[in-house]
Amino acid sequence: MKHIDEYRRPDSIKGLVAKINEISTKPATIMEVCGTHTVSISKNGLRQLLPRTISLISGPGCPVCVTGGSDIDTAIAYAQQKDVILATFGDMMKVPGSYQSLGDAKASGADVQVVYSTLDALDLAVKNPDKKVIFYGVGFETTAPTVALSILEAKRRGLKNYFVYSVHKVVPPAVAALISLGELKLDGFLCPGHVSAIIGSRPYEFIARDHGIPCVIAGFEPADILMAIYLIVKQVEESSPKVEIAYGRGVKEEGSQRALEVMDKVFETAPGDWRGIGVIDGTALAIRGEYGDFDITKVMSVEVPEAREIKGCECGEILRGVKLPFECKLFGKACTPRNPVGPCMVSSEGSCAAYYRYEGMGILNDG
Ligand code: SF4
Repeated sequence: MKHIDEYRRPDSIKGLVAKINEISTKPATIMEVCGTHTVSISKNGLRQLLPRTISLISGPGCPVCVTGGSDIDTAIAYAQQKDVILATFGDMMKVPGSYQSLGDAKASGADVQVVYSTLDALDLAVKNPDKKVIFYGVGFETTAPTVALSILEAKRRGLKNYFVYSVHKVVPPAVAALISLGELKLDGFLCPGHVSAIIGSRPYEFIARDHGIPCVIAGFEPADILMAIYLIVKQVEESSPKVEIAYGRGVKEEGSQRALEVMDKVFETAPGDWRGIGVIDGTALAIRGEYGDFDITKVMSVEVPEAREIKGCECGEILRGVKLPFECKLFGKACTPRNPVGPCMVSSEGSCAAYYRYEGMGILNDG
């Protein structure tokens, strides 16, 4: 456990912990809906600073983890086609589909190339005019605007060999679906900072209004997260659920108009397949018909094998918050960051990887 003096702003950490302890009388289960929060909470030992009445659990906030197995199988099927280069961010390479990962497919001869931005993918298309370059668009509202811009740029340049396989997802309706499953009694949501910088705070209002659950948007420093937890606990104690921004330096109520406009120009909502939750209407971003020439699903059809679950992996339960990582029988034994079985251990933002690396669970299970 970290000593309070080891934090970057120890006085604010001490002050916030004292304030939370002072007002907290009711039990509260708070879900963070952002993989970066999951990592920051574990890495900075924030659970240990809080009163026992407060539980922090992770939700479907890691975009790599929530990408459905069938979406990965489809990306692999595209990568295996002749004259195709599948361009992807590196974090998708080791994520298991039903039968293999993109990394496995590459080892077997598929042309899968890791890129660091959509501009790299556009460059690949320019340099390989005889190939179809497909960018695998995975992520939330944070990444969707840059992918939309890449499509607009490809159109502007007249590129005929740049395509996107979009499995982007949007966060607020997925939170609604999670609530409607009724598996958990949630007392608050720690809402994502990066996603909210794009969408603003308004899309969460229905959660407080219709479901009576406090929502606070948080930054990523330990003090930011503790401040958001303090505000949630205060709302719980006062029975006054609302949406608050505790990350004013990054998030405005109305979000980023420019990013929203670009996203809306290129994408429309569609059903999205969430690992562990299933298909939820209105949670994916599909490319609008007007930009269909850049939508690989409109241009090329592939045969995709029937999807199947990863045996023994409980990522679905973990992403829904109904289980903690160490409750999976494979955690720290068959499944470690070095030999990951499921996406929550593969991704650096996955809960299993965060618990293993930072919460002493690796030592516990390796011993
Ligand atoms: Fe899946 Fe591994 Fe996490 Fe178990 S420990 S839920 S197998 S990722």
